Amino acid sequence: MHAAAYLEKLNPQQRQAVEHGVSGAGEARKGPLLVIAGAGSGKTNTLAHRVAHLIVNGADPRRILLLTFSRRAAAEMARRVERIAGQVMGANAAVLTEGLTWAGTFHGIGARLLRDYAPQIGLDPNFTIHDREDSADLMNLVRHELGYSRTEKRFPTKGTLIAIYSRAVNAERPLEEVIARSFPWVAGWAAEMKAIFAGYVEAKQAQGVLDYDDLLLYWAQMAGEPQLAADIGGRFDHVLVDEYQDTNRLQASILIGLKPDGRGLTVVGDDAQSIYSFRAATVRNILDFPGHFSPRAETIMLEQNYRSTQSILRAANAVIDFAAERYAKNLWSERPSLERPALVNVRDEIEQANFIATRVLENREDGIALKSQAVLFRASHHSGPLEVELTRRNIPFVKFGGLKFLDSAHVKDVLAVLRFVENPRDRVAGFRVLRLLSGFGAATAAKVLDTVATGPMVPSLETFSPPPRAAQDWPGFVTLARDLKSRATGWPGELDRVRQWYEPHLERLHEDAATRQADLVQLAQIAGSYPSRARFLTKLTLDPPDATSAEAGPPHLDEDYLILSTIHSSKGQEWKSVFVLNVIDGCIPSDLGVGTKDEIEEERRLLYVAMTRAKDSLSLMLPQRFFVHGQSRGGDRHVYAARTRFIPPRILDHFATSVWPPATPEAATAASASEVRIDLSARMRGMWR
Ligand code: ATP
Ligand code: MG
Repeated sequence: MHAAAYLEKLNPQQRQAVEHGVSGAGEARKGPLLVIAGAGSGKTNTLAHRVAHLIVNGADPRRILLLTFSRRAAAEMARRVERIAGQVMGANAAVLTEGLTWAGTFHGIGARLLRDYAPQIGLDPNFTIHDREDSADLMNLVRHELGYSRTEKRFPTKGTLIAIYSRAVNAERPLEEVIARSFPWVAGWAAEMKAIFAGYVEAKQAQGVLDYDDLLLYWAQMAGEPQLAADIGGRFDHVLVDEYQDTNRLQASILIGLKPDGRGLTVVGDDAQSIYSFRAATVRNILDFPGHFSPRAETIMLEQNYRSTQSILRAANAVIDFAAERYAKNLWSERPSLERPALVNVRDEIEQANFIATRVLENREDGIALKSQAVLFRASHHSGPLEVELTRRNIPFVKFGGLKFLDSAHVKDVLAVLRFVENPRDRVAGFRVLRLLSGFGAATAAKVLDTVATGPMVPSLETFSPPPRAAQDWPGFVTLARDLKSRATGWPGELDRVRQWYEPHLERLHEDAATRQADLVQLAQIAGSYPSRARFLTKLTLDPPDATSAEAGPPHLDEDYLILSTIHSSKGQEWKSVFVLNVIDGCIPSDLGVGTKDEIEEERRLLYVAMTRAKDSLSLMLPQRFFVHGQSRGGDRHVYAARTRFIPPRILDHFATSVWPPATPEAATAASASEVRIDLSARMRGMWR
C-alpha cells in the first residue's frame, strides 16, 4: 500500500475510515462501513479521501458509485478526489478521475440506469421525466378525467395529491397510514385518492413519462429482482453515500439491493442534521445500518470539528443539545474563538436587508470575497426584500434552492415543445404547447394528443384538420414539429428554431418579453453544453440551474457573487461568513399552527444545520416585525416577532446581542425593551408546555 502524504493529514478516526478494507489490490475485503459524525467533522472530506485512496490503490473508477445529495456536491467531490489522488499519481490522477462517471444523485443515477435497462423492464427507453409541477398537472388531468373535479371544495388539491402520493411511495407505507400521519385533514377522501393514484400510474405508463419518484421506485424494483439486482450490483465494486441521514426507505432498499451483504458499501451522515422528512427521508436508515449488516458492519465516529470556531460550535451545540433524541456526540473544535455568534436585532425585513448588504460589503473590504459569504433562510420567499436591496446596490448574487429559472412560464413553454417532440405521448407537455396556439381549447388539444399518441407524430399532425378558428397558428406549428422531428436544424440549433417560433407567443403573453427573451437566450447557451436533446431534457429536469439576480445578469463562473440559499440547499457547504434571516418563531420553526413535536424537532435541526455552515462569523437576524402573506389568517399583514424558541434565555450567553442600526439613545432603549418583551413571551409559552 502507498504510504501517501494525504493520509498524514487525517486524524486517526478519519484515517481508519479511509483505509477501511483497502487491500493492495484495492478491493474492499471487510464489511460495510458507517461513519456517523457531527457537522464539519470531515465526513465529506473523508469520503473524498477514501475514493482517492481506493483509486490510488488500484480500484477502477468506472466501477465506483458515488451518491451525493446534489449534482453540485458530486462535481465538488470529483474535484477533491482528483486533487488528493494527484498528490501521489500526478497528472495520471486527472485521467483516472475522469472515469468517475457514476457520481451523482440517486435520481440522476437512477435515470441513467433506467435508460440502460428500460427494454428489460417494459419501459420505453425514450421516456421523458416530469418535474414536480408536471406531475401535479398530470395528477390534475387524471382527477378531471375521473370526474372528481367538481365534487366538493375540500377535495385535496393537485399539490396535496402529489405530495401524498410521493410520500407513500418514498416511505414505502400504505396510503391510509400516510394520510393519518401527515395529512389528516383529507382523511375522508382515501378511496377517491386510490382511484386517482391508480389512474395516475396508468397515465404515466401510457404516456411514457416517469416522475421523480419513479426514478427511485423502478430502481428499487430492479434491486428486488435477483437477476437484475446482481447485474446492476455487479457493475460496482464500491458504493459510497454522503448525507445518509437524508435518504428514505426506497433509497435504503436500493442500496441493500445493490450490495446485499454490504461489501464495498460506505455511508456517512449525521443524525442531528436530518432535515428531509417531508420527502420521507428517515433517520432510521442511519440508525438501523449497523443492525442490518450485523455483525460485519463497522461504525466510526468523528468528533473533531475543523470548520467552525469554538464559539460558533458551542452555540450550535447548545441549540442541538435540547433535541429530544440523537446519537450522543461530543463535537469539539480547536479553532480559537474570535467572536461569539451575533444575534442582530433589526426593526424589520427592510432593515435586515440593509444590515446584510452593508456588512457583506464591509467584509469584502476586509478581504472576504462575496463567494465566501452566504445568506441562509428557511423559505425561499424570505429573501425577497434582500434580493431587492442587493440588486439596488449592485451586489451580484446567486440563489440556490427555491424558485428556479426553469419554473418560469416562458422557459417551461420552450422546454415543453422539446419534450413534446421527444415524446409525443407526454400529455402534460402536449397540452402546454397546444394551448399556446390561438383558438386551441382543451377539447381540440385533446384530439390532437389522441391522434399523435397512436401514430407517428408528423404525419398525424399533417392530417389533422383543426376547427377554422384554430387554423391560423396550426401550419406554423406543424412545420416546427416536422423540422424538430427530422432533426433538420441539429442540436442545439433547434433551440433557436423553437425560440423563433415562440417569439410572437411570448410577446402576446408577457409584457416583459425582452427580459424573458434574454432568459431563452441563456437557455440556448446552456443547451450548447449538452450533446443531445434527450440528455439536455433529463439533466435540466433533474438538476436545474440556479437562479441569479436578474438585473445584475447571470454571474460568470469566474466572477464574485454572494450566495443566497435555503437552509435545505445549504447542506454540506461552508462559508467564512454566514447570515441567517428571520431567526424568529414562525419562520424557524415555521408555521407554529400545525407543527407536531417531530416537525418542530426537525426545525431545530434545520437551525443547527444553518449555524454549522459558518467558519468564522455567524449572524442570526432578528427582525422585530415580520411581514406575513396570509391566505387563511387575516390577509397580508405585519406581525410582531419573537426570537426563535430554539434560543431560549438560558443559552443566550453563547451569543452577542446587538441592535442595528446602533448608536442613537432611543434605539438602544427600544432594543432593550424589545429584548425583555421577547424573553417574557418565551416564558409565557413555556407555561403551557
Ligand atoms: P457536514 O456535516 O456539514 O456535511 P462534514 O462532516 O462533511 O460536514 P467536511 O465538509 O468534510 O465536513 O469538512 C469540514 C471542513 O473541515 C472542510 O473545510 C475540510 O477541509 C476540513 N477538514 C476535515 N478534516 C480535516 C483534517 N483532518 N484536517 C484539517 N481540516 C480538515
Ligand atoms: Mg458533508
